[in-house]
Amino acid sequence: MQISIVVPLFNEEESLPELMAWIDRVMKEHSFSHEVIMVDDGSKDTSWRVIENLSATYPALRGIKLGRNYGKSAALNVGFGEAQGDVVITMDADLQDSPDEVPELYRMIVEDGYDLVSGWKQKRYDPISKTLPTKLYNWAARSMSGINNLHDFNCGLKSYKNEVVKSIEIYGEMHRYIPILAKKAGYDKIGEKIVHHQARKYGTTKFGLERFLYGLLDLLSVSFMTRFAKRPMHLFGGLGALCFLIGFLITVYLTIAKFAFNVYRMTDRPLFYIGLVAIIVGVQLFLSGFLAELVSRSSADRNNYLIAKYVNRNPSQPSPKGRA
Ligand code: UDP
Ligand code: MG
Repeated sequence: MQISIVVPLFNEEESLPELMAWIDRVMKEHSFSHEVIMVDDGSKDTSWRVIENLSATYPALRGIKLGRNYGKSAALNVGFGEAQGDVVITMDADLQDSPDEVPELYRMIVEDGYDLVSGWKQKRYDPISKTLPTKLYNWAARSMSGINNLHDFNCGLKSYKNEVVKSIEIYGEMHRYIPILAKKAGYDKIGEKIVHHQARKYGTTKFGLERFLYGLLDLLSVSFMTRFAKRPMHLFGGLGALCFLIGFLITVYLTIAKFAFNVYRMTDRPLFYIGLVAIIVGVQLFLSGFLAELVSRSSADRNNYLIAKYVNRNPSQPSPKGRA
């Protein structure tokens, strides 16, 4: 199968028939072998009934219904697990992303050899309250991840090699930073395609202002997890030792000065308190690092690595997770 289109959706009953007809038209025009996986993220409206009805007309449509609303990342993760196509394309259900982009997104993966191609809504039809903070986020994400050629990390329209979606796990609100996760998993051929964007036709946005707070926190945890999850002591231990050393030097200096000149009381010096706090904070940081190290050492996947290739592989070995 050439293409899997994964569509996460939450209360999008009005859009689905139009979206499905549009996808079907594009797929037929290019005679792609394909499947459309609609993941109903616990919709409260009739979305699921619409999917069931549509599946009678479109045999390529597969539906998955989650038990409750878990969020877009969870819906994508479930869809990724099911996707069988060589190229996996994600698309929002609200008709803001155009299925007409699919053939080119497919071509860039298959012919140009990209691991991941992200859409870029260069001209957006969203209110400024959303576009401005988004610019800021993308700048932060770019400088944190070193993926300098992406303008729009959170574009819902993306295409992937199948093995990429099978080797990343997204949860929380991590869908905003999939390119970073892909890069950390070793898939660094990441491209961008300018895509047409449209104003939402039906319904309203599912993300409020809290998206910016959560987005920022998730950016921090993504960059922390990808860098230090397997070696927390390097961060906390290093910082802790540095802090402790500063405090220790201050104390030594004050002690020597006190005994050499004996002109002041220790507690009259502001430096005394700074030294004291530095020592305490240093010990705290060091202990946090030590505890985090213990936690990561006893976690079940401490030795899970993605294996890219084998030669002369021992066939009796159990197959590892991810690509092989
Ligand atoms: N979505 C979802 N679960 C949620 C929230 C959103 O599956 O909890 C889907 C939603 O139905 C849409 C896509 O994620 O298909 C993008 O959501 P939306 O259009 O509201 O985001 P925006 O375009 O405003 O960033
Ligand atoms: Mg939208």
